Amino acid sequence: MLPEATPAATLLEGVRALSREGLSPGSSGNLSFRRGRGFVITPSGVAPEALDTASLVRVSLDGRVLHGDLPPSSEWPMHAAIYRARPEVGAVVHCHSPYATTLACARKTIPPLHYMIAVAAPDEVPCARYEPFGSEALARAAVEALGSRRATLLANHGLIAVGRDLLHALWVAREVETLARTYWGTLAIGGPVLLEADELGAIAARIEHYGPAAADPPRPGSEGS
Ligand code: 13P
Ligand code: ZN
Repeated sequence: MLPEATPAATLLEGVRALSREGLSPGSSGNLSFRRGRGFVITPSGVAPEALDTASLVRVSLDGRVLHGDLPPSSEWPMHAAIYRARPEVGAVVHCHSPYATTLACARKTIPPLHYMIAVAAPDEVPCARYEPFGSEALARAAVEALGSRRATLLANHGLIAVGRDLLHALWVAREVETLARTYWGTLAIGGPVLLEADELGAIAARIEHYGPAAADPPRPGSEGS
């Protein structure tokens, strides 16, 4: 069996992958994973190609730097607030992916136009009110908009996604960007036809066992396969 990647290695690969895919322009965006009573986060303002495991910063849930030489991401308050509010969350991904950011700048909510919305939320991907980057006010706005969902747009800014672990949170972020692109496309042809509540309800349970980050993929023959 191949050895499992460490969370730090997965984080670095995630940062580089988002950059390669055009989902995190320049040094924008930040990733973290929960570690003990705090979390490990990317440093502030460092380009993906310059990052290594030694540049990651360990921060407590109240914002004390526990380990690391570089300043933590300016968005550490938003990551910390999410870990405090959502005990089941093991990783957070924030990025300025182009289509999600386009919708966020128009302060639009992504409605249930495609069944893959269930990866992020049972109803919609909301748009948190505008607050300055790196502020406690933005942290509060993001937590409020998220509720129990896995993603929200951030007005005039970008996107934040959460998951059980980094692979899960990265998957959610990529799916939201795809949904944002699809929504943007449908707006040019009269707008989407939305899924009904019962149609969404039928998807929610199935999606928990689906995808690259599924904790418990269904076996052949079982319900949902
Ligand atoms: P950092 O480089 O400080 O992580 O900030 C990037 C960003 O996206 C701020 O919202
Ligand atoms: Zn940002």
